[in-house]
Amino acid sequence: GDGARVPALVIGTGYGGSVAALRLAQAGVNVHMVEMGMAWDTPGPDGKIFANTTNPDARSYWLRTKTKQPLSNFLGFPIDRSIPRHTGILDAEEFSGITVYQGRGVGGGSLVNGGMAVTPKRENFAAILPSVNADEMYGTYYPRANAALGVATIDPAWFDTADCYQYARVGRKHAQRSGFPFVFVPTVYDWDYMKREAAGTVPKSALAGEILYGNNHGKKSLQKTYLAQIRATGKVTISPLHRVTSVSPAAGGGYTVAIDQLDTSGATTATKTVTADRVFFAAGSVGTSKLLVKLKATGALPGLNGEIGKGWGDNGNVMCGRANHLWDPTGSLQASIPTGGIDNWAAGGAFAEVAPLPTGIETYASFYLSITKNPHRAEFSWNAAAGRADLNWQASWKQPSIDMAKTIFDKINKKEGTIYRTDLFGTYKIWGDHLTYHPLGGAVLNKATDNYGRLHGHPGLYVIDGALIPGNTSVNPFVSITALAERNIEKIIATDL
Ligand code: FAD
Repeated sequence: GDGARVPALVIGTGYGGSVAALRLAQAGVNVHMVEMGMAWDTPGPDGKIFANTTNPDARSYWLRTKTKQPLSNFLGFPIDRSIPRHTGILDAEEFSGITVYQGRGVGGGSLVNGGMAVTPKRENFAAILPSVNADEMYGTYYPRANAALGVATIDPAWFDTADCYQYARVGRKHAQRSGFPFVFVPTVYDWDYMKREAAGTVPKSALAGEILYGNNHGKKSLQKTYLAQIRATGKVTISPLHRVTSVSPAAGGGYTVAIDQLDTSGATTATKTVTADRVFFAAGSVGTSKLLVKLKATGALPGLNGEIGKGWGDNGNVMCGRANHLWDPTGSLQASIPTGGIDNWAAGGAFAEVAPLPTGIETYASFYLSITKNPHRAEFSWNAAAGRADLNWQASWKQPSIDMAKTIFDKINKKEGTIYRTDLFGTYKIWGDHLTYHPLGGAVLNKATDNYGRLHGHPGLYVIDGALIPGNTSVNPFVSITALAERNIEKIIATDL
């Protein structure tokens, strides 16, 4: 409540925040988690907590009056539609040159993401987190994160026969015929549940096209894993629809945290302050970076160093579709959870997920989200006149990602005698190069912080989310974010408390 004093306050309830809160609580520390999004624990008028991809509604977007779907067009027609403005689950946050998609609510990105739970190849780790001991990560913290997240790989025999993965089998066939390795990608979906969806014995989620706006069943979001464990400790309070606006040193020690309470229209209904001995920034790469550049520039946290806001990257995300021949259908039923990828990282700098297009009709399309070795890094800065943080990403910086993705898809198209789809991102536009799902960096480990996430200049302040990772993970990022948080919080509990 207003005016309270807490030993530890965590800003955000995504992967980093949930790891911090759980391990602190297990060490006996009372924790207060503050989350700007909704709780997502109450069904709407249709009896479901989350809206479907094919029918977005008020629940689907964070404070927008029109949807901003990652695929904006289909067969030449724009598919975005009007929706009521509401504190919905997916934020399509627009910066100059890039739209950054993020989850909003208790569970952060785990509510909206595709559930692909990938541990990077060990040989790529040094480029991801150069100051971190890889033996410890691969011996202890990646296994700990994978176990706590409930990561599992699809049964390959079921993959070979399930109608809902025909699109992925087509993706595998095309990859292999062009000489690229196709690899199964582990996920946090409950595979037994998906088999029962396919058998028609349980309510459908992945097989009803649920993704982006939440999964009503089957996906093990943080609500079912870390946050369930957090609730069981009885030592953590969570305040949804509360947004942290400031953190500054308190007169008697610790930090004063200023918090706006929001209603579901996004309006501020109350402002509160809480004093915390320790504050963990876990608002996501963008949320943490925006707060820190503001607090540094406005003098609230004058001790922060010159690395704040720097080292931000898009994990090289770029999307594309291919038009297959009519004898190569990808299936009208497509599981919304991707389960395989094409690995051309070493030779071409690209790892491409074979992604679904769960439209409910046969599209003859193969759709891909590529993660590429894009070298560009942007910087957040405080725009005092406008009262907001800006990001200096440039649209043209996606070109290296396109070139890397083309090392895979130009070859496949040539081999198969196929072409790129030009109707998914506009009119005659091949590349979905306007967005990222994987923001990383802005408060990079061992630069803005020490080697365990302690912010320089202000003892008791920590960064523990995707802001620590310098712009790229070579694969989908949430397992790395979780594992790094597990490593850092263990050290912090052992030495700082
Ligand atoms: P987040 O999970 O983003 O959590 C931050 C939380 O802080 C949010 O809940 C936010 O609302 C809250 N917050 C922000 N600012 C404030 C504030 N000022 N006050 C209070 N609360 C605040 N990754 C994968 O590994 N595999 C995938 O398949 C995958 N698919 C994705 C698909 C989509 C559509 C999207 C958007 C992302 C996907 N990701 C995927 C990325 C993954 O979800 C993120 O990398 C991950 O969630 C980041 O974790 P985090 O702990 O850094 O922050």
